[in-house]
Parts: sequence; C-alpha cells; structure tokens
Amino acid sequence: MTVYSGPVFEMAVNQFGVIANHLSIPMDERDRLLLPKRAVIISCPIHRDDGSITVFEGYRVQHHLTLGPTKGGTRFAPSVDIGEVAALAIWMSWKCALVGLPYGGAKGGVRVDLSTISKRELESLSRRYMQEMIPFVGPHTDVMAPDMGTNEQVMAWFMDTYSMYQGRTVTEIVTGKPVASGGTLGRREATGRGVAHLAKRVLNELSISLNGATAVIQGFGNVGSYAALELQQFGLKVIAVSDHTGALHDPAGLDIPALMRHAGKHGSIAGFSSQLQFDPADILTLPCDVLVPAAMERVIDAKVAENLKCRVLAEGANGPTTPDADLVLEKRQDEVFLIPDVLCNAGGVIVSYFEWVQDLQQLFWEEEEVTRREYQILDRAFDTMVARARADNIPHRTAAMAIGVEKVRAAKNTRGLFP
Ligand code: NAD
Repeated sequence: MTVYSGPVFEMAVNQFGVIANHLSIPMDERDRLLLPKRAVIISCPIHRDDGSITVFEGYRVQHHLTLGPTKGGTRFAPSVDIGEVAALAIWMSWKCALVGLPYGGAKGGVRVDLSTISKRELESLSRRYMQEMIPFVGPHTDVMAPDMGTNEQVMAWFMDTYSMYQGRTVTEIVTGKPVASGGTLGRREATGRGVAHLAKRVLNELSISLNGATAVIQGFGNVGSYAALELQQFGLKVIAVSDHTGALHDPAGLDIPALMRHAGKHGSIAGFSSQLQFDPADILTLPCDVLVPAAMERVIDAKVAENLKCRVLAEGANGPTTPDADLVLEKRQDEVFLIPDVLCNAGGVIVSYFEWVQDLQQLFWEEEEVTRREYQILDRAFDTMVARARADNIPHRTAAMAIGVEKVRAAKNTRGLFP
C-alpha cells in the first residue's frame, strides 16, 4: 500500500512486474525503478465569477531524473488523483526511453470538471496551478505539456505565468504551445499523426489495402480527431467515432473535417447528426480494420478484448487496455495486431521534444522536417519492438516496455546510487 494505490497505479505496477520478471530484475532493484522520485500535491484557490472562492487539488509526479529533465502532460479532469498521475508518469518514462528521448517521465493534473467552470475561471486555475508548481519545475527540471482537458491555450497561460515570475520569456518551460508563442509546427497534429502512421505501416505489413479499409475511433479530442483525419487522408473510411457525449456510426464513412469543425465550434460531437447516432457502449467491438481508443484508461477489459473485431489495435490513449485484457490479446495476437500505447502515442512527446530543442536553440524548423523526423523515430522504435517481440517470443507491449525499462535501468546502474 502506498499513497499512489488505486486501480490505474495497480495497473502500472502489474505491467512493470511482468517486465521485471521477463528481464529477471533482482527484487531489491525493482522499487528503485518503479517508485516515483517526487510527488507534489497542491491546493489551487481561485476566485469564481460570482465572487466566491473554490480550492482545486492539483498534482505533479516526476518519476525519475536519471536521464535528464522529466517530461509529461497535465490533465484537467474529474477522475484525476495522485495514483492516476503516478501511473501516467511511469508510462511516460518507459515511452521516452523506448524512443530514445533524454527525459524521465512526469505527469500532472487538477481534479476539476471543466463543464462547471468558465473560460475566465479556467485561466485563473491554469495560472494558479503553474504558479504553485514554480519551485518544482524548470526547462532543465520538468517540462509540462497538454493532456486530456488541456490545450494550447492552457500551455500559453502556463508559459506566461512562469515567464512573469522569471522576468523574461521562457518558452522552453512547456511544450504544446501555440505556434505564435514559441510552439512548433506539427505539434497539434503529432500524436494523432503518429498513431495513423503506425497503423498504416501495420496495414501494409498485413497486406490490407488502405483504400476502403475501416477505422473506429473512441475519443474525438486532440489525439482521436487528428488520428481520424490522417487515416481518412490515407484512404480509410472512419465508420464510427465517440466522445463523452455519445457516438456516431456511418458505414459509408463519416466526414471527419466537417466533424472536426463541428467539435471545434460546439466542444463535442453532440448535435452533428441525429441519424448517425449509435450506442457508445458498442463502439470498441464494432468490426473494423483499425481500432483507436483515444480517450481514457482501462476501457478494454478482458471481456471487451475477447470481443474485439479489429485487425489492428492502435492505442492512442494511455493505458486503455487492462492487464487481464492483455492476457486475452496475447492469445489472439495472430488476429489482433497490438501497437501498444508507449509506442503508438509517442509521436506527441517526440514532437514536444523537438519543440523544446527549438525553443532552447531559438531555431525553428519547417513542418515537413518535424513530421519526417517524428516518423523516423517512430519507425525505428517500431522495428526494434517487433524484432524484440519475435526474438524473445513475447507480446508487443512486453517488448516495448522491456526496451524502455532496460534503458532506464542501465542508466541508473551506471550512475550508481548516491551517496
Ligand atoms: P482531449 O481532452 O483533447 O480529448 C479527450 C476526448 O475523449 C474527448 O473527445 C472526450 O469527449 C473523450 N472522452 C472522454 N470521456 C469519454 C468516454 N467515456 N467515452 C468516449 N470518449 C470520451 O485529450 P487528448 O489530448 O486527445 O488525450 C486523449 C488520450 O490520449 C489520453 O489518454 C491522453 O493521455 C493520451 N495522449 C495524449 C497526447 C497528446 O499529445 N494530447 C499524447 C499522448 C497520449
């Protein structure tokens, strides 16, 4: 039992146990690799529009500082707690190491229902969160990014707040900023693009023609919408999409640019079409070639895994598949090709890394270069994962995480235990 105990943290612990057993990591080394280096819990009081005061609880977990600064998103959602944030920070560590970025993993968040606060209150909350975090973050200590419920605007407020306290503009304190405020071209699209790029690679390897192949997307925020758009541009039909308000299904293929315009204007897919409405509970088990869970954790349990009817499971979200479901998928690996989250959604942190590098150097790249380099890193990591899975006869998730854990372990062991 630790302060982090809870279902999402148990999932990260469970997955680590599988990897540690596979790598025969001695028991007394495991806690050092797994347990977060630092965790901060803060109170964020803000003035409400009616003059009253509300205090929101905020968190930041920095998993390890062995390879450089920590890096990770900030989530604004009602489900956020210290255990969820810790699990997400741990997954970020394995992800960064897998794709070769000089970072440890971090994650942060505020427990807040965004439907209950105004835009002005959101700005106050964002600024207060960053202001409380100033002693614990920095361009070479911990660099934040967007996640569920936060976006470019929130990152701009974070950057502005940090900069005001430093007395100079420090763009490199966060990534995922608007391009006008030191962001990089291609970051907004990066995660979804990476998901679609890897899914396309797998379809090609499975000799499934892109033209007319079908895709289903759960979650239509940053990751889900750009994954859908990119897959459609590759020739796939996106036959179903869901978000927190419901689901839409059209066997002829949804008009994704029109749906993105609608969601951008109204904040969700609700009201786009009454004829195409569909039960969101059935979305993950619809027959399709590519299934992209791009919303939240633990949506694919063992029962859903038994009933998946996709050829490729491209995990856009972090932690969408439970360890029980992984056991089912292991048996079904000839039917369902898994691209695990630590690889599949790594395009986001890869391009965040490019943004940080560009901000530090004040030298900015063309979008074509950003995307080309993103795909190069993803392809290399994909090849390494597949080769490792074949060599050790292990599932893709175990292979991908084992590569990440091994790199962190090697760095810790060569640096030694201080003092
Ligand atoms: P977002 O806030 O932009 O979008 C989240 C989407 O999920 C919204 O459309 C929301 O309506 C939907 N959603 C929420 N609850 C749902 C439910 N019960 N059923 C169906 N849909 C639901 O968030 P995002 O940035 O797109 O992140 C989505 C996932 O991708 C998260 O797991 C996040 O950690 C992960 N991720 C994001 C990035 C990034 O660059 N943004 C990078 C890597 C991983």
